Amino acid sequence: MSERNLSAVKVEMPVQDPQVRAQNFEEVALGYTPEMAREEAARCLQCRHRPCVSGCPVGVRIPDFIARVAEGDFAGAYRVIRENNALPAVCGRVCPQESQCESKCVRGIKGEPVAIGRLERFVADWAREHLPAEEVRPEPNGHKVAVVGAGPSGLTCAGELAKLGYAVTVFEALHTPGGVLSYGIPEFRLPKYIVHKEVEGLERLGVHILTDTVIGRTESVDELMAQGFEAVFIGSGAGLPRFMGIDGEELGGVVSANEYLTRVNLMKAYKDEYDTPIRRGKKVIVVGGGNVAMDAARCAKRLGAEVTVVYRRSEEEMPARREEIHHAKEEGVAFRLLCNPVKIEGAGSLVTGVTCIEMQLGEPDASGRRRPEPVAGSEFTLEADTVIMALGTSPNPLLHRTTPGLSTDRHGCIIVDEATMETAREKVYAGGDAVTGAATVILAMGAGKKAAAAIDAALSGPRD
Ligand code: FAD
Ligand code: SF4
Ligand code: SF4
Repeated sequence: MSERNLSAVKVEMPVQDPQVRAQNFEEVALGYTPEMAREEAARCLQCRHRPCVSGCPVGVRIPDFIARVAEGDFAGAYRVIRENNALPAVCGRVCPQESQCESKCVRGIKGEPVAIGRLERFVADWAREHLPAEEVRPEPNGHKVAVVGAGPSGLTCAGELAKLGYAVTVFEALHTPGGVLSYGIPEFRLPKYIVHKEVEGLERLGVHILTDTVIGRTESVDELMAQGFEAVFIGSGAGLPRFMGIDGEELGGVVSANEYLTRVNLMKAYKDEYDTPIRRGKKVIVVGGGNVAMDAARCAKRLGAEVTVVYRRSEEEMPARREEIHHAKEEGVAFRLLCNPVKIEGAGSLVTGVTCIEMQLGEPDASGRRRPEPVAGSEFTLEADTVIMALGTSPNPLLHRTTPGLSTDRHGCIIVDEATMETAREKVYAGGDAVTGAATVILAMGAGKKAAAAIDAALSGPRD
């Protein structure tokens, strides 16, 4: 083991220069070198009680993989991570580590926590470049399971079951797997070849992915069960965008962030050789303060627009990751905080601006954040030709409507037994954003993993 590194701060990760990256879609963060990774790994104290592990929804054995990185045994580190995490190159990039594993790290008490996410990313990238593709085909156990949706929850559930010998078919509505990893999170935060590589790893395990198949339309859950699938996991996400319900939202030039990001990511609007229909805009306003708003704003900036984020609370209450807000500012995205749109202005059928009202913060609401209240008579208008609404999403009701016996809450989220992820319908399980509403990749993966264990117990009985 190398000598312990007592530095209070993380080893810096190189990033592309903000001026340069605001003009391209290449990855912003460039990753650690082997030397940087070993130096950062030497900050880990190898705590006996392993508090960091309790902060990871899939239970990655963090101190064990970090010990191997410190020794330079990167292949060993990868094996440890893969025991619990099917998508480590993705999680190392997009997990909100500051509120998960790293929030529990004891090094965070008197300085910065160990950079667990950066180390996980390093190991996964190293393995992709240096290790031969794993070819493990578990012995078939004779059981068949269907998974609806190839996002992180569905893929994780499928991978866990395939490892146990189940014949798993994943039915995906879009032409490519990955869910939000493919159509939502932009290339400059999560390059798509990395998503494809991690999906290929699952296919090598025997997971069969059928794209362009909308369950509830092409086939129903009942029909899948009639075809011999003994259990179904629903991981259909929360892709239905919300709007504000204000005047002018019907004008040409007002789009949901989901639609905008899908056109940029999945339909490759950022590539010159693609003729993707997309509203590029010269003056773009993005409404919202979450990760989705930051992604939309940073995409619009890269497509050449002058971009302003409008958010009704202050920066402190913004749900987006601090790092994403910081990166957006560095790239030249402007912020108008404590104000809220009241009307979209237009000439003919096109947007010309957004009238907003200033807000002030009152008492905390149910979310614990201070409630924004309008300041009477403070309206003002910002010029814009494009408005992107990033106000959150809900689950699409299609599966609920077409699957008898499923129950949902008032937000349209599928209700499950939290211990097993089983829905009100026997042998039909659900997890990820379809159950929680818009959340995180790793929580969706944790739900997929929990459901896989419950499906296995229901179909094969308890294991030793
Ligand atoms: P999804 O990823 O939504 O996947 C669901 C899949 O099901 C989709 O592929 C969909 O096409 C398919 N599907 C839906 N209905 C059907 C049907 N009827 N039949 C067949 N297939 C169907 N989380 C983070 O942790 N970090 C981030 O940085 C982050 N950034 C984000 C940025 C954006 C722009 C967005 C939109 C979300 C972000 N999130 C982030 C949230 C995260 O991506 C989601 O919480 C996560 O992807 C949920 O996984 P899931 O498997 O439940 O659903
Ligand atoms: Fe942390 Fe996410 Fe890795 Fe778990 S999967 S250790 S939460 S970065
Ligand atoms: Fe290492 Fe931090 Fe986990 Fe302790 S809590 S084992 S220092 S990563």
